[in-house]
Amino acid sequence: MASFSIDPGVKSMRTEQAVPVRLVDYRPPDWLVETVALDVSLDPTRTRVRARLKLKPNPQAAAPAAVVLDGDELVLRAVTLDGEALAADAYVATPDRLTILQPPNRPFVLETETELDPTANTKLMGLYRSGKAYTTQCEAEGFRRITYFPDRPDVMAVFTTRIEADKAEAPVLLANGNLADAGDVLGTTRHYAVWHDPFPKPSYLFALVGGALGVIEDSFTTMSGRKVALKIFVEPGKESRADYAMGALKRAMRWDEQAFGREYDLDIFMIVAVSYFNMGAMENKGLNIFNDKNVLASQETATDADFNSVEAIIAHEYFHNWTGNRITCRDWFQLCLKEGLTVFRDQEFSSDIRSRPVKRIADVRALRGHQFVEDAGPLAHPVRPEAYREISNFYTATIYEKGAEVVRMLKTLLGPAKFRAGMDLYFERHDGRAATVDEFVACFADAADYDLTQFMRWYRQAGTPELAVEANYDAGAKTCTLEITQMLPPTPGQPVKEPMVIPLAIGFLGPDGRDRPVTLAGGPTLERGVVTLTQAKQTFAFTGLDERPVMSLNRGFSAPIKLTANLRDGDLAFLAAHDSDSFNRWQAVQTLATALLIENVAAHRGGAPKRGADELIVALAAIIGDHGLDPAYVAQAMAMPTEGDIAREIGTDVDPDAIFAARRELRAAVGRALGSALEAAYVRMTDKGPYSPDAASAGRRSLKNLALDLAAAGDPGAGVARAAKQYRDADNMTDRMASLGVLSLYAGPERQEALDDFYRRYDGDALVIDKWFALQAVIPEPETLDRVRALTAHPAFSLANPNRVRALVGNFVQANQTQFNRADGAGYAFHADTMIALDAINPQVAARLMTAFRSWRALEPVRRGHAEEALKRVAAAPNLSRDVNDIVARSLGTG
Ligand SMILES: [Zn+2]
Repeated sequence: MASFSIDPGVKSMRTEQAVPVRLVDYRPPDWLVETVALDVSLDPTRTRVRARLKLKPNPQAAAPAAVVLDGDELVLRAVTLDGEALAADAYVATPDRLTILQPPNRPFVLETETELDPTANTKLMGLYRSGKAYTTQCEAEGFRRITYFPDRPDVMAVFTTRIEADKAEAPVLLANGNLADAGDVLGTTRHYAVWHDPFPKPSYLFALVGGALGVIEDSFTTMSGRKVALKIFVEPGKESRADYAMGALKRAMRWDEQAFGREYDLDIFMIVAVSYFNMGAMENKGLNIFNDKNVLASQETATDADFNSVEAIIAHEYFHNWTGNRITCRDWFQLCLKEGLTVFRDQEFSSDIRSRPVKRIADVRALRGHQFVEDAGPLAHPVRPEAYREISNFYTATIYEKGAEVVRMLKTLLGPAKFRAGMDLYFERHDGRAATVDEFVACFADAADYDLTQFMRWYRQAGTPELAVEANYDAGAKTCTLEITQMLPPTPGQPVKEPMVIPLAIGFLGPDGRDRPVTLAGGPTLERGVVTLTQAKQTFAFTGLDERPVMSLNRGFSAPIKLTANLRDGDLAFLAAHDSDSFNRWQAVQTLATALLIENVAAHRGGAPKRGADELIVALAAIIGDHGLDPAYVAQAMAMPTEGDIAREIGTDVDPDAIFAARRELRAAVGRALGSALEAAYVRMTDKGPYSPDAASAGRRSLKNLALDLAAAGDPGAGVARAAKQYRDADNMTDRMASLGVLSLYAGPERQEALDDFYRRYDGDALVIDKWFALQAVIPEPETLDRVRALTAHPAFSLANPNRVRALVGNFVQANQTQFNRADGAGYAFHADTMIALDAINPQVAARLMTAFRSWRALEPVRRGHAEEALKRVAAAPNLSRDVNDIVARSLGTG
């Protein structure tokens, strides 16, 4: 997928109090399923599901055992074994389990019939309605909400699905695989379709869709010459908005052939866009189901960032066909096996077809903004967790983004050729099977003949390693010595850690700014510029240096670590001007800005005099003045660290108001100092021709809009006027949203005028109105909470639609640091109330949004007290879901 216990005294009438599931308790299933024949008769409130399972004893399991099938809120209507009705004492059926007490010790056929109400299914797991359409979401444990089944990924079966529905209500009927049959049900207004998927798959990859949908069609010829039909289904009338997604799909299919030798396998590949969806998208075999936000994009309705993420998510889900579907996870503890690896693959895809340095910077920003924060708080967990109470809460930045970094480190350690050999071996060895992280890593160890035993700690130990580097130059010996210590801080359940394997890419800059070649004294050569750390403390000596070098450390962010070094004054400015590693050049500017901001935050709180931004401004002036640089890169380098970045770096006793004030002052100072350069960039980057969403055009717009924003910070009067004009003249959503974003920061008639105009212009277009909700939620002023509260009653808002909730509430709690973290606690109280209400409708989304409290312990004492109070209030709410219960308990340290 493309991506949250309490005082027992207050609990009553609950079946949601889960026992933790532990990795050490894994054992193979007692029974396997060879084939599944589903017959689903769709009806808005009474959908009937008949399932015919061919079960056989698992030769790997011990003794013959009862057949235990998972369920979730199911009602059993009938059950037969080999065609014979089962006696009442031969089975036990509850809403969450069907047990066949003494099954024959041989293969047999079990048939069940259940009845569902898709309209009442507001959890959006299992079979539910998205508007008028029927759709499904089964990962991780949704299939058990459709029929009784061994709902675990190591049970892989061949599925045949017959769907029947009213012709007018659901003219389109889709399921996994290839279409085998279709026709009318004679004498009725109903019709049917039969889909057969020849590839054995786990139940979480099952999907079906029924509805009145528009479609765009294309085809793709694979590298072996097979023609594959491509279809994207959308709400009727929105077909043209799916063209970009279709192009992205074809680019992804070609890239996977070229980069990984992976070819698509079925005759048809389908994507369906739905408007009610808990996650970003889902890689069901041959029938991906997407949040429409990640499919639909047009010049008028989507920003460049939207186009970018449509392309990345289309690619991500497509890449799962091999990393996730053909080879799946043995159990949910191995989730990173498919997600970390597939994120790595989609990041590589975007790097190859867009800009690699810009993509790397964006990915590291996201990693630090989400994963480092997760690692530093009460929800920290290893890339492969060892226990969970609710697996839905582990679709996290750690599993996805850190999981991808771990794969990238494998590539850095082994080099590209051996890495590819390891991937090839993985596909060859495990195709058609459910694998583990250990089996994945063993492929690289075997293919490259490399000992990865210690490397496995990246999967087991939570937390972000902290590296301290002390560089000392000896002019006599022409040697630079690096003394490197690593420390992994304690995390929940892991008080003591062992040293990690850390591939550290480094460079030595001479006084002219160029890289100096070095020799690693008395050790292995410096392969590909990387030293490999394995111990808590290590020393490396590099010879051949005529002058003291300036160190460029962790180039390209070769390891997901925090790093400090004994740089001298002026070294960062030097790196910002000269580093040949574009990531580290960007990093040098960020480090300069962050250090300055942290100092000035302290000054704000202590009333001390503030430090000026001269050194940073010189560095920024050089970057914006260098017209040879990629505009998208310049925009990244000129962007100040976010309030979240600063809070994360401060780490304890965080005061969001002081952070906001220091950052606002710095932006104003930079805007004033670089006013004319920003003005010039704004003009230079303004395209006259027609709009195109390609990376180069988007990069120019990103610099133009950064210049608009930063110049307005320096001169609000002129900035507001320019933004208002850009808003009126905009011929695309990127420019329109960027100008609205600038206007939103300055209270005045221009802001309200533009907000009203925006609503009128896009009224009824839900995805665009989400931008209107989001923008108002992030305005950093005290009136925002009242505005957000009022907007929850707006006719276009609904707690039942996750996109609306994420747009308004999600942005308020995740992206509005000062107003969510109000000193009076009103932001937390609002969130607690809203999440208690949402939990009754959609526990998964409520749990995810509750992670907004993940850094509550890092706050200054007054806010910390209010946050704890809000968390405890949620914890005490009656009938809390397992999902929210788990997040709240871990956040409070009671679970
Ligand atoms: Zn995924």
